[in-house]
Amino acid sequence: MPQSSAPAGAVASSNPAASQVEPPPDAEGGRTAERVSRPLPSGSIEVIAGSMFSGKTEELIRRVKRAVFARQRIQAFKPRIDDRYDKTRIVSHSAATEGNGKTIEAVAVATSESLEQRVDDETQIVAIDEAQFFDRGIVDVAQRLADRGIRVIVAGLDQDYLGRPFYPMPELMAVAEQVTKVRAVCTVCGAEASRSQRLISDAGTVLVGGSESYEARCRSCFEPREIVR
Ligand SMILES: [Zn+2]
Repeated sequence: MPQSSAPAGAVASSNPAASQVEPPPDAEGGRTAERVSRPLPSGSIEVIAGSMFSGKTEELIRRVKRAVFARQRIQAFKPRIDDRYDKTRIVSHSAATEGNGKTIEAVAVATSESLEQRVDDETQIVAIDEAQFFDRGIVDVAQRLADRGIRVIVAGLDQDYLGRPFYPMPELMAVAEQVTKVRAVCTVCGAEASRSQRLISDAGTVLVGGSESYEARCRSCFEPREIVR
């Protein structure tokens, strides 16, 4: 077996310096902090996931407004099914109830294909709210947009009313560079809530609604069924 006569580690062991991976000292507190705080590359996918009333949309709006201050070119989209508050704006639950002005302009589209067709060549950021109501094609669309150098920010419910993964959010979370899980407050016990409890009966998986139809619950207070009030 002549081909195995050369030891596998020959190259590395011939250069002892190559095995010294310790980074040089950093006057500002080390390389770890630097690595964590480094911004994402321009083309990327960020997912903001959580239950109802967890502040997903507020966080999406916050990131978009920061980008507006930075004079970036942004387009925001929402699924046409979600017309609770406004057909042409993204409005959070709290903005709808308190009128606090936390809204951004958005285009309501029926399909992921329609969304992709509307993204302009010069757009730098694409924000997508209520992504769980889009078809599965939204995953490939988000990937293609990110591959083009666009920062894609996606917000949506990670679980349905039975506590099951709410597709296509799991796929979006898998391919994202960054995932932020936001939590609500459990209506029953006050703990951090990760689930959306449905309070009215029989509307299928997609029941668009606000506080009259759902409340936030923690894992132990969540009852994976409809509760008639
Ligand atoms: Zn609870």
